[in-house]
Amino acid sequence: MVAADHVVIVGAGEAGARVAHELASHDWPGPITLLGAEDRPVYERPPLSKETVVADDPRPVEPYRERPLRDQGVQVRSGVTVTTADTSAREVGLSTGDVLGYDRLVLATGARARRVPGLPASVPTLRTYDDALALRAGLRGGTDLLVVGGGLIGLELAAAARGFGLAVTVVEAGSRVLQRAVPDPVAEELAARHEREGVDLRLSTSVDAVAQEGDRWVVTLSDGSVHRVDVLVQAVGSVPEVGLAESAGLVVADGIVVDEQLRASADGVWAVGDCCRGPIAMLGRDGEVEKRRVESWRMAHDQAVVAAAAIRGEDAVLDAVPWFWSDQYDLSLQVSGVADAARRWVARPEPDGSRVHLGLDDADRLVCAAGAGRAAVAKDVRKAERIIRAGTPVDPAALVDPALPLRPSP
Ligand SMILES: Cc1cc2nc3c(=O)[nH]c(=O)nc-3n(C[C@H](O)[C@H](O)[C@H](O)COP(=O)(O)OP(=O)(O)OC[C@H]3O[C@@H](n4cnc5c(N)ncnc54)[C@H](O)[C@@H]3O)c2cc1C
Repeated sequence: MVAADHVVIVGAGEAGARVAHELASHDWPGPITLLGAEDRPVYERPPLSKETVVADDPRPVEPYRERPLRDQGVQVRSGVTVTTADTSAREVGLSTGDVLGYDRLVLATGARARRVPGLPASVPTLRTYDDALALRAGLRGGTDLLVVGGGLIGLELAAAARGFGLAVTVVEAGSRVLQRAVPDPVAEELAARHEREGVDLRLSTSVDAVAQEGDRWVVTLSDGSVHRVDVLVQAVGSVPEVGLAESAGLVVADGIVVDEQLRASADGVWAVGDCCRGPIAMLGRDGEVEKRRVESWRMAHDQAVVAAAAIRGEDAVLDAVPWFWSDQYDLSLQVSGVADAARRWVARPEPDGSRVHLGLDDADRLVCAAGAGRAAVAKDVRKAERIIRAGTPVDPAALVDPALPLRPSP
C-alpha cells in the first residue's frame, strides 16, 4: 500500500459503497472517492420489488444510515456520471467536466434493466428507486397488472400486486418460470403458489404488440389473447453496465472480466458487483475455475470485501458460494450454490411440510440447495451451504433423512 493512494470508485450501489466502507473502516490512509450517477444517497435495491412497492412510507433503505459514508471519511459525489476512463494516465472524466486522477480505480457500475426488443420505450422497467416509486403509484391505484417476464422481480411484483387485489397476468416466454438459477421443482412450487393466489401465468407465451389507449395499455400476446391493463411492466433480466469499461479497453465478455481478487485487465483497476464476471471457486474443483456474472446482493457484497482487501495489499481471494433470496407472499426462496451444476436432485422434507431440494454433481458433491418456504427452509439451506463449500462427496440418503443434521462429511 502506498501512503495517500487515491481510490476512485465508480458506481454507488451495494458493491461500490461496500468497497468504500471496507477501505474506510480498515483505515485506508488515502482519499476515497465514491461517484454515483443517481442523485441520491446509496440505497439497497432488493427492497424495491418487495417492501418499496407496497409500503405506505416507501423511503429507500440506506445501508449506511447509522454512520453515513461521508462520516466514515469517504468523499461521496452523487449525481455525477463517469464518462471516460484512461487507465494509462490513471484519470477519469466526469459529467461535470472535471478530470479526476486516481491511483486505484474500482468499477462498480452495476447493471441496467433489459428491455424486450420491439416494445415501446415507455413500457416501464424496475431497476431504480424512482422506477419503484412510479410502479408503486400504479399498483396502489390500479386494477390490473401485466408483467412481462416470470423471473424473480416479475414474480415478486405479481405477489405484491395480488396483495393490493389487482388482477395479475404474468407472461413468460420460457416453458417455466425462474430460468436456470432456480431448480425445476422449486420453480414449479412457486408457479403453483402464484396460480393458487389467482395469478394468470402464461408460459411459452410472448408479447406480440403493445399499444396505449387512453390511460390503459393494450397488450396482444402470442396466444392471440388481448389484455387491457392499467399497469404494465417488463421484468426480463438485466444487462451489465460495461460501456465505460469497454471504452477504456478492458476485457469484457458478459461483464468486466476479473480474477479471483476482482482485478480487471488493466493495472490498478478492479471491478465488482453486477457489472463483473468473476471466478466461482466451487465450479473449478475438477479443473479450470469457471467465471460467471452473478447478480445477487450477497455476491456484490462478498466481491467488494475481497476487492477492498486486495487493494489494501492483502491476499484474500474470492471463494464465496453464490446465494440469493426472493420474497413472494409468505415464502422466502433461498438458493445457495449453482443449480445448473447439478446432475440429479434429491428432496429433504422439512417439519413445516416444505422441502429443500439438494443438487448433486457427478461426483456426489452437493452443488446446490434451494427451497421456497419459511424459517426451516432458510435454516437448512444455510447449513447445506457449508456442505457445498466443503466440496467433499456426500451420502444422498443421509441428506434427505430429516432425522440427520445437514453437515459436511467428517
Ligand atoms: C428490483 C430488484 C430486486 C432485487 N432483489 C434481490 C433479491 O431479493 N436478492 C438478491 O440477492 N439480489 C436482488 N437484487 C440484485 C441486487 O440488488 C444486485 O445484485 C446488487 O444491487 C448489485 O449491486 P451493484 O453495486 O453491483 O450494482 P447496482 O446496485 O446496480 O449499482 C450500480 C450503480 O452504479 C451507477 N453507475 C453506473 N454507471 C455509472 C457511471 N458511469 N458513473 C457513475 N455511476 C454509475 C448506477 O447508477 C448504480 O447506482 C435485486 C435487484 C433489483 C433491481
